[in-house]
Amino acid sequence: MLAKKVFKGMAPYKPGKQIEDVKAEYGLEKIIKLASNENPFGYSPNVEQALPELIKSLEIYPDGYSTVLRARLAERLGIDGEQLIFGCGSDEIVEIISRTYLDEGTNTVMAHPTFPQYKHNALIEGAVVREVPLVDGYHDLKEMLNQIDDETKILWLCSPNNPTGSLINKEGFRYIMENCPDHVLVVVDEAYYEYIETDDAPDTVTELETYANLIVLRTFSKAFGLAGLRIGYGIASKEIATLLNITRGPFNTTSTAQKAALIALEDERFLQESVEKNIENKQQFMAFCDQEGLDYYDSQTNFLFVKLPVSGDEMFEHLLSKGFIVRSGDALGHPKGIRVTIGDREDMIELETHISEYLTSLKEGKKQ
Ligand code: PMP
Repeated sequence: MLAKKVFKGMAPYKPGKQIEDVKAEYGLEKIIKLASNENPFGYSPNVEQALPELIKSLEIYPDGYSTVLRARLAERLGIDGEQLIFGCGSDEIVEIISRTYLDEGTNTVMAHPTFPQYKHNALIEGAVVREVPLVDGYHDLKEMLNQIDDETKILWLCSPNNPTGSLINKEGFRYIMENCPDHVLVVVDEAYYEYIETDDAPDTVTELETYANLIVLRTFSKAFGLAGLRIGYGIASKEIATLLNITRGPFNTTSTAQKAALIALEDERFLQESVEKNIENKQQFMAFCDQEGLDYYDSQTNFLFVKLPVSGDEMFEHLLSKGFIVRSGDALGHPKGIRVTIGDREDMIELETHISEYLTSLKEGKKQ
């Protein structure tokens, strides 16, 4: 039995190392995972408190339309509920968009490196992928527009970008939207939206009123801390959302996830504290990098991509042996660096010590 030809060159997603595996492999008691940009402060205590309620009636299918969450989110965003699509993480929305718009004979434009699921899904649909190298961690917007032709269906903008953390600002967003042909769907993936610090970020949801070829993706996995429940959403015109909802599986988000997302959305305090602590801890980590002479990309997220004098794999292995899981740049298309999720301050101090020791041992020409 042969699968589609494209599967020959593809492999399943290789996630960051799992905590239990590392414990067993290195005989360590404590493992700190700073590899998947999860919220180190967990999730709203209100969700925790409601857990018994959240897992009631598990024999019943979920509300496939996510009626209650849809209404509440629409109200908060100032949009019509029919402009929303919910997914099993924003991962699934990427898949649904690709399934809806891409097939053989079409192409799609994205940055490199960026979130790998855009390419992965496009290839499965048989589309040609046009990757445009980042410039200093930023999307090369002019070149991305140059890559568009009559067969281009989707332009992916990851803002802030994973793995570099850099944001497309108001001017960049406007430049794209004003110059991108109408037949191209512009997807702005804002998985890290809540972490954005600058005032110079575009208000993409309001811009939906101006641009009919725009879709914005957001998630409850990052700042809201609900990655394990898998729920994310897309906001677009009603026309686009209707098409995507045709592709979507009938019960693709669980009732537990829908209810938890609703509670998380109401807990402004948890969100705000998570965001504030992230800014503080990121600044301190950046100060450490400055001190060590390590360069990094401008990040508007809860992670920092640090450039290294050694390969990312080498530093990754060293940190792993000390009980820290980070993400090597090798796996992310940027070999000389690591992507570090900003953890709590205590963990970051320990991580800094291990990075520092390794760099010193390199300078002294000896291996630890
Ligand atoms: N987009 C970006 C840029 C991401 O970094 C991630 C998660 N790593 C996702 C989408 C998917 O997140 P989720 O499926 O958990 O919503």
